Amino acid sequence: MDKVIVFDTTLRDGEQAAGAMLNMEEKLEIAKQLERLGVDVIEAGFPASSPGDFDAVRLLAKEVRGSSICALTHANAKAIDSAWDAVKVAKHPRIHVFLSTSDIHLAHQLKKNRDEVLALAVTMVKRAKSYTEDIEFSPMDASRTDPEFLRTIVQATIEAGATTVNIPDTVGYAIPEEFGKLIRNLFKKVSNIDQAVISVHCHNDLGLAVANSLEAVRNGARQVECTVNGIGERAGNASLEEIVMAIRTRSDLFHLTTRIDTTQIYRASRLVSEHTGFAVQPNKAIVGQNAFRHQSGIHQDGVIKRALTYEIMDPKDVGIPASSLVLGKLSGRHAFRERLAELGYVLTEEDLNRAFLAFKELADKKKEVTDRDIESLVAQEMRTVSETYHLDHIQVSCGDHSVPTATVRLVGPRGEGFADAALGTGPVDAVYKAINRIIGVPNRLTEFSVNSVTAGIDAMGEVLIRIESDGVTYTGRGSATDIIVASARAYMNALNRLLAAKKRS
Ligand SMILES: [Zn+2]
Repeated sequence: MDKVIVFDTTLRDGEQAAGAMLNMEEKLEIAKQLERLGVDVIEAGFPASSPGDFDAVRLLAKEVRGSSICALTHANAKAIDSAWDAVKVAKHPRIHVFLSTSDIHLAHQLKKNRDEVLALAVTMVKRAKSYTEDIEFSPMDASRTDPEFLRTIVQATIEAGATTVNIPDTVGYAIPEEFGKLIRNLFKKVSNIDQAVISVHCHNDLGLAVANSLEAVRNGARQVECTVNGIGERAGNASLEEIVMAIRTRSDLFHLTTRIDTTQIYRASRLVSEHTGFAVQPNKAIVGQNAFRHQSGIHQDGVIKRALTYEIMDPKDVGIPASSLVLGKLSGRHAFRERLAELGYVLTEEDLNRAFLAFKELADKKKEVTDRDIESLVAQEMRTVSETYHLDHIQVSCGDHSVPTATVRLVGPRGEGFADAALGTGPVDAVYKAINRIIGVPNRLTEFSVNSVTAGIDAMGEVLIRIESDGVTYTGRGSATDIIVASARAYMNALNRLLAAKKRS
């Protein structure tokens, strides 16, 4: 069977989503999971866009060996040089050059005519090619480009050395039938098309990113650009898990395969959600919490008798933990470690010890510790690893006749202790003010939400917040059985990310 190349751009286009910002450690952790997932190409970033992006691409190029590492660049000599500089240490480096080709972009953004754009594309692909063999070219806004000009530029860039030509539906404007035809016509009319892989990059503005990608594949495209959970600019990109599972579930129709280990999908989805702070909607295909939940009696009865009656996919195939085994106070280290392994966590001995202590503490407060509790707990432990300031102690008093008052104690970068107290309009406000008195970095809270991890009065609460400082948004998450403590942890998480970003720049 013919293979479709899976090109993941979670760390580039996905991270471009408003408020997604990932730090280096998070990017590396996600990249490692993408490697386990079997992604063929990881687009690691846009090195010329910022020093932080440059460093992240270089780090991933060094650390990830099982997938190609791709650096994005606009069609500019300096930017291409910088892309190569960042990605050259990779085992399989790729440079991805993009340039707008639609008349509307030419007139308003580039202020160049078609001949100038064509010449520039060829020159820049040649420049990239002088560095490495694996070159991708994207005529940006291809779906709104004059079809004849698109064919000319595809032909010319393949001739100049592009080994992959990507056709982006940059603004999410295409409709499946028409997009399929666009690809089909390229195969008909571009004479050297067999010398490159044709790729597609679809956006979801009309909710059609996956449908458009699949239609392109049916018409000859052999690379799809996608992101985990479909995150990305505006309404997002085509979702990796939906494309992969559609090709697999309907192999009778596609007769195609991918290199993806689908049992790693669920873990990848959780990790991306955790690090970007973007919750997955419950009804999201493949990875939403209701995706395999049957509510109707007739359906439940059918699934129990034979899963195939109402399930077109086996949840185990996408890595959703099969057993709902619950751990408790008496569960030992061994059982805890086993459960973590089943959930897909690979922890060092030191991290395992910390997570186990946190588990014991939780099991004291909560009778049954479920998989979701464990995920939340491990995530909370991992967040504290690279902290500048650590929340050591918090005490709050509040009520309808008293002024909410909070006392906090933080441990600083050199192990020194800081304590302070503040009044607030509510307990969370008081805690945040007390923390601000110690850390003293101006910021504004823009979003605050509390979610219960599981049902029940003893459930853990997960708090998600976003703060803004100098026009940049930082996400923070925290979990605990006490929502005030969870709120304080989320704030510390966001502040630590802010401090790390400030230190880097
Ligand atoms: Zn895009």
